[in-house]
Amino acid sequence: MKSGFAEYFQAGLMALAVVGLPMVAGTPAGAAAQSLVTTDPVLERIWVEGMERSQIEPLAQVLLDEIGPRLTASPQMERAQEWAVETLESWGIDARLEEYGTWEGWDRGPSHIDLISPRVRSLEGRILAWSPGTGGRPVEGGITYPGNIRNPGDWQAFLETVTGKWVMLSFPEPTCRADEQWAEFAMPESAMEMDARRQQAEQAWNRSLASTGSQDNRGRDLHAQLEEAGAAGIITSQWPGSYGTTRVFNAYNRESPTFELGCEDYGLVYRLAANGQEPVLRLTAESENRGEVPVFNIIGEIPGTELPDEYVVLSAHYDSWEGGSGATDNGSGSVLMLETMRILQAAYPNPKRTIVIGLWSGEEQGLNGSRAFTEDHPEVVEGLQALWNQDNGTGRIVRLSAQGIVGATPSIASWMQKVPAEVSQHVELQLPGMPGGGGSDYASFVCYGAPAFSLGALSWDYGSHTWHTHRDTFDKLVFDDLMNNAVLTASLTYLAADDPNFTDRTRREVMTRGGRPVDWPACQPAVRRSSDSPRMQ
Ligand SMILES: [Zn+2]
Repeated sequence: MKSGFAEYFQAGLMALAVVGLPMVAGTPAGAAAQSLVTTDPVLERIWVEGMERSQIEPLAQVLLDEIGPRLTASPQMERAQEWAVETLESWGIDARLEEYGTWEGWDRGPSHIDLISPRVRSLEGRILAWSPGTGGRPVEGGITYPGNIRNPGDWQAFLETVTGKWVMLSFPEPTCRADEQWAEFAMPESAMEMDARRQQAEQAWNRSLASTGSQDNRGRDLHAQLEEAGAAGIITSQWPGSYGTTRVFNAYNRESPTFELGCEDYGLVYRLAANGQEPVLRLTAESENRGEVPVFNIIGEIPGTELPDEYVVLSAHYDSWEGGSGATDNGSGSVLMLETMRILQAAYPNPKRTIVIGLWSGEEQGLNGSRAFTEDHPEVVEGLQALWNQDNGTGRIVRLSAQGIVGATPSIASWMQKVPAEVSQHVELQLPGMPGGGGSDYASFVCYGAPAFSLGALSWDYGSHTWHTHRDTFDKLVFDDLMNNAVLTASLTYLAADDPNFTDRTRREVMTRGGRPVDWPACQPAVRRSSDSPRMQ
């Protein structure tokens, strides 16, 4: 990103005339092109601040490397929240923690898993979030798995065999090579054979679990029954299909540990057990359950000078899973919004409307922080001019949907046409689009019909490589893309905050999904205590 401001505005004129306009339904080409002729000093300052004085990399390094992942109600989340408030205040922005409920607090200690028989190998794995540890003492056990359950009677008989054993509950992948490698290198017949073998084995495994009589789609009752039957603990493995990755979610049990192993080591342990080679695993793990502790959103504000009761909101969830550092989910969105506030405070310190940053907690347990905010701040929902949410990784913003709010499309179009083309040229507008019912925090606002939008990023293999995996770390961030996004988001925020018009909320009339009519998504109440959360029980 080296070109100067005048050059990119010129480029912008061309790019919008050629690329942008066909995507903006109903905007005459001449009108859009004309309004680009004047340069805007605020947009120029935003560009300079974002491109030449970017703070994204140092902010991300402290947040992701030094503080680390930010599980809801963990001490690291609390540290990260204090740091965000201090950081905003160091830029002269008012910021505060806003309590919205309590959650089960948990702190990870060291965990270590070793194969000790028939040979020694330290395995790649860790206890899951909210799992108890072993009090730091080594716990050893053999391996078993429910491989051939035909009916609930078989399951009951199996339960009688699990005492003191580690029970494998996930499907063991026959290959941890990514599909792309099979496609590139395998003989066609061996690729087909592997595919068929994997499908059959997975179906058989799932059939076995489905025959246990489990009443729960996540099998939580099976976890509870294994704990009650005296199993040493449970082993899981969730391979997303890309090299060396594993997803790390939460444990259901609270008395005995649940830990995960990476694809390769899980397969190793399974094969040893399946071939009668009697593997023994030793788990040594520490963790602390902190009971119910208060949970907070971070709210920062640059007050509006003319219309203080109308708001442009910068939105990102700050909590993460904790197998990695929560870099692309959602350190990148959080740091983007912090940097956008910094840029705006420098380039547009006296906005017409109030600019708010909301860094939510509890998103991973069901959008709880942002839902609580909409319940506690109906005035912000009411006065919302625009909300920008970012939560799908580190890539350049390439999608912006009006979320079915057809009335907002002229506003979005008029803001986008003024944004420097270097950062807007990648963006496909989806107008009017469809309202999002979940997935991330904008949905907490869209359900009220408020103009809340998702800034959709280029994937960089987010779904298969970093989303909720232990590879979601600082090195995955793409800083040129994030700088691009900060200038885009700051420009959109300024243009929305400064717009003479309040965003219209007319909803699209006809809505279908998969050829069927659907209703506007209903607002769900925030879950404000972990004991009320189906995801924690
Ligand atoms: Zn996320």
